[in-house]
Amino acid sequence: MIIDKVNNPIQVGVLGFGGLGQAAARILAPKGEMTWVAVADRKGYAYNGSGLNPDAVIKAYNQGSVAYLEPDGVLSNKSIQDLVENHTVEGYFLALPNLPNTFMADVARQFIKSGWKGVLVDALKRTSAVEQLLELQTDLQAAGITYLTGCGATPGLLTAAAAVAAQSYGQIHSVKITFGVGIANWEAYRATIREDIAHMPEYDVETARAMSDEEVSALLDKTNGIIALENMEHADDIMLELAGICDRDRVTVGGVVDTRNPKKPLSTNVKITGRTFEGKISIHTFTLGDETSMAANVCGPAFGYLKAGIALQRRGMTGLFTAAEIMPQFVK
Ligand code: NAD
Repeated sequence: MIIDKVNNPIQVGVLGFGGLGQAAARILAPKGEMTWVAVADRKGYAYNGSGLNPDAVIKAYNQGSVAYLEPDGVLSNKSIQDLVENHTVEGYFLALPNLPNTFMADVARQFIKSGWKGVLVDALKRTSAVEQLLELQTDLQAAGITYLTGCGATPGLLTAAAAVAAQSYGQIHSVKITFGVGIANWEAYRATIREDIAHMPEYDVETARAMSDEEVSALLDKTNGIIALENMEHADDIMLELAGICDRDRVTVGGVVDTRNPKKPLSTNVKITGRTFEGKISIHTFTLGDETSMAANVCGPAFGYLKAGIALQRRGMTGLFTAAEIMPQFVK
């Protein structure tokens, strides 16, 4: 099949402007194939068809909302809806918190209802959140939306790497993802950290969501800033199962997050164990460079998948896809 080339700059938006949203804006700045034209946060949105300036938008956000960007910002308590209804944007990266666990599926429903056609990419993490999107498969297709889910680092980059690595084997025995994340302070990634806390023993999504910033800080004081997690409910499992690689119970995800040090506490890696056609058991290991940040490993792939999604959309392919079944394209 001939791969469609994306020729004109793609007009893209970023929904959610916290840690990942801001990194996404910076990643897009030097790109020629994508222009960042739209952004929304909880209190408003900003749009400029010629492109938004990351420094100016971050300055406005730090004053309370991207809505304070002059002259392009608009205050709104239904910012996503207003942005989508008033401006044409071809694709969005959803850098939104999935709190509650139904939030991203609600946003997808909102897009379906609006009549908008285009490409959506998320960096969802939980299996149960991806399952909710699977239920929207037919509606997304009918609406003309190409939705790529699980397109961050894990799920995302590492899941896709596992799908590629699996090709050496006749049978896949296990896929083991271990991540190390280092961030200087947790407030830069509030949703990410709350969602990680939700995986700790004695917590769930609702208790983590209800915690005040002070309660999160107090918990992190007790753990010396470290969150260590194992056997997490992570959508890498359902994505690899749907891609036909292995059953979901063969996939495990765990890791360590240091919220007080940008240095990674361990090297993020995925190990794929399998058996070759000759009967040899072997392990492929794919390890991310320690210098690459969580933001680089989430937002880079997200835009690679957004470009791939645009190519699908322009060929009339709509509906839900996961990062394990589509190859991301490199955005120049
Ligand atoms: P954050 O808390 O720093 O920022 C969230 C942003 O969303 C804020 O700007 C907020 O104003 C905005 N927002 C909240 N509700 C909104 C609404 N109703 N309408 C519009 N905007 C709204 O979040 P973050 O730490 O950047 O994380 C974003 C998401 O990325 C999280 O769900 C996290 O789990 C996910 N993530 C995925 C991976 C991966 O590898 N797959 C890694 C890290 C983070």
